[in-house]
Amino acid sequence: MKALDQTTVVFTSRSANEGFARAVAACFATRLDPTLDEVADIKTAVSEAVTNAIVHAYPDSIGKITMRLRLLEDHQMEIQIKDSGVGIPDVEQARTPLFTTGNEERSGMGFTIMESFMDSVKVRSAVGKGTTVTMRRRIALRVGGGQ
Ligand code: ATP
Ligand code: MG
Repeated sequence: MKALDQTTVVFTSRSANEGFARAVAACFATRLDPTLDEVADIKTAVSEAVTNAIVHAYPDSIGKITMRLRLLEDHQMEIQIKDSGVGIPDVEQARTPLFTTGNEERSGMGFTIMESFMDSVKVRSAVGKGTTVTMRRRIALRVGGGQ
C-alpha cells in the first residue's frame, strides 16, 4: 500500500531506546488525531516489539534497530521494527501465547499483546539474519475532531 508520508529512525539496542521508540511512534501518530487510548495501544505494541529486538535479537551485543513509520490511506498507521539479530527459528511457535525462550522475567506474551492492540501483525524472520515485525492500526475518524 502506498504511504502518504513516512519516516525512519535508527537506534541501538540499548534498553533506553525502548522509551525513545515509543515516544517517536506516539508523536508520529498524533497526525491521525488519535485518542489517548489509541496512542496508549500503539505505544504498548511498539514497546513489545522493540523490547524483543533489544532482549532476544541481540542477547550478548549491541545491534542496530530500524523503526519505519508510515501513514497509509484509510487513516492507518504502519509500524515496522527491524533488527539484524539472531532471528526466530519457528515464527508460528514464537507467536504462541506463553511461549518464551527468555528467562523468568519474560512471560511469552509479547506477540499476543501486539496482536491484541494492533489490527495486523506480520513477522518475517531468518535465523542468523534478523527479524522484521510489521504492524498496522487504523485510527478512528472523529467527528468534529481537529486535523
Ligand atoms: P514477554 O514479551 O512476555 O516478556 P517474550 O519476549 O519471551 O516474553 P514474545 O515477545 O511473545 O515473548 O516472544 C516470544 C519469543 O519469540 C521470544 O521468547 C523469543 O524466543 C522470540 N523472539 C521474539 N522477538 C524476537 C526477535 N526480534 N529476535 C529473536 N527472537 C525473537
Ligand atoms: Mg517479548
